[in-house]
Amino acid sequence: MVSGATKPKPFLFPQFCKSCGRCIPSCPKGCITMGDTIDPRTGVVPVTVDTEACNGCGLCLEACPEPHGLMPMPQETPDFDLEDPETLFGPRATTAPTPTAIPSARIPLPRVEPLVLKGNHASAVGAILAGCRHFFGYPITPSTEGSELLAKLLPKLDGVFVQAASEVAAVNMIYGCGGAGLPCMTLTSSPGFSLMLEGISYMIGAELPGVFFDVMRGGPGLGNIAPEQADIKLACRGLGHGNTHAIVLAPATPQEMLDLTMLAFELTFKYRNPVILASDGYLGQMSGRVNLPEFMVKPGLPEWAVWGDEAHRGNLNCSIRLIEPDLEAHNEHLLEKYRSMTENEQRADLYRCDDAEWVIVACNTPARMAHGAVERLRDEGIKAGLFRPVTLWPFPTEAMRPVVENAKGLLFVEAGPGQLEDEFRLAMSHAGVGDLPPVRRVQRYGGVLPSLREIIEATRTMAGVKTSVAAPAGAKGGAL
Ligand code: SF4
Ligand code: SF4
Repeated sequence: MVSGATKPKPFLFPQFCKSCGRCIPSCPKGCITMGDTIDPRTGVVPVTVDTEACNGCGLCLEACPEPHGLMPMPQETPDFDLEDPETLFGPRATTAPTPTAIPSARIPLPRVEPLVLKGNHASAVGAILAGCRHFFGYPITPSTEGSELLAKLLPKLDGVFVQAASEVAAVNMIYGCGGAGLPCMTLTSSPGFSLMLEGISYMIGAELPGVFFDVMRGGPGLGNIAPEQADIKLACRGLGHGNTHAIVLAPATPQEMLDLTMLAFELTFKYRNPVILASDGYLGQMSGRVNLPEFMVKPGLPEWAVWGDEAHRGNLNCSIRLIEPDLEAHNEHLLEKYRSMTENEQRADLYRCDDAEWVIVACNTPARMAHGAVERLRDEGIKAGLFRPVTLWPFPTEAMRPVVENAKGLLFVEAGPGQLEDEFRLAMSHAGVGDLPPVRRVQRYGGVLPSLREIIEATRTMAGVKTSVAAPAGAKGGAL
């Protein structure tokens, strides 16, 4: 072993070398070369260091961006393999200033007349007002109009719009952009969202922000381009492998397509975790009145960003933790974060639920039909109400708890085969609410939406009231 008291030579931890090669040109003695053997622990090829000619100048130590890739040679040969070098050497010495967070700021906007916007356009406007200047995606119907608008606007705002080669490429670009601490997003639809799941898992593991706007369409497979609530299960319980969760927001109006997009950017940085917006094809395409907010956001820069300046140079955002206790501790940290989201971020919209005996549970476009059905049913003297979860994960169990206690029956209205009901049952079970009233359901699939007539009929049946109003001409399935 070679060592020097005042000028320690470099010691390579091959398992922490990312093979970036920055140390190679930094060495004036040509001691460092690219290796030719894959390290089986990491799957990358570390450099090799020949310390015979080394003069201990330390330039390679300065050049290495990895916290523990190259370290000063220890005085004694450590007995280690995958041991954390911080336990051997303590934190890596650095003269760089400690990075400090630059907070985001709200900039007041003048009051303007409401706009009439298509849902997908409203989400794009919301992203720009939230400070997003980076978009990575792959066009897919029925989400494309939002991407199209951002492709026009972002270059004019010194932003970046990248149409990636695929959704897999796009999600990894979002990983990189989020890792740099910048607000970034994609707009996609169900098959594209499925392709992004692996990258989302990596982002959750690395604790990186990013907004995924999923305009859900009919499935499985390529399905069709009509609305279906096809991805609730994926968004709430299936974000890639491992211990993964993200806040899932479910808009029901063009206004919410804008408002919840802005909220998503706030939450994604608050928790250092991706946020999913689960919209549907009908909401993406429909137009409606949209009030612009009273502020826009000037993004800050988090202290953990890999920004490229001296202060942020020691930062590393990655999801790999090869040492088992480290990964276990990281999972405990993530679970604590999920608990905090569950406690603080539940959101729901309750319509006439105060005295409701027959509660309709719906989100996205089906909630719009359900809202109309509640009006009709109330006119008939049936005490109906609408419970609309705005966060699908965490499911708003605290708002639901008293509703469930008072209800005589629940009716789940879904454009899909019960994914919302499944999430409700699991969330209420975890919340300790096991005693549920009888549950009925109206489900349509493949892009067919539940109709007002079907919801009214099902509620009447649930309430034990006979149908009495003649169905409109052409309607399927009998009287209203
Ligand atoms: S300490 Fe100096 S001479 Fe030695 S390997 Fe590093 S850069 Fe080269
Ligand atoms: S600079 Fe560090 S991480 Fe990059 S190749 Fe050299 S030792 Fe490996």
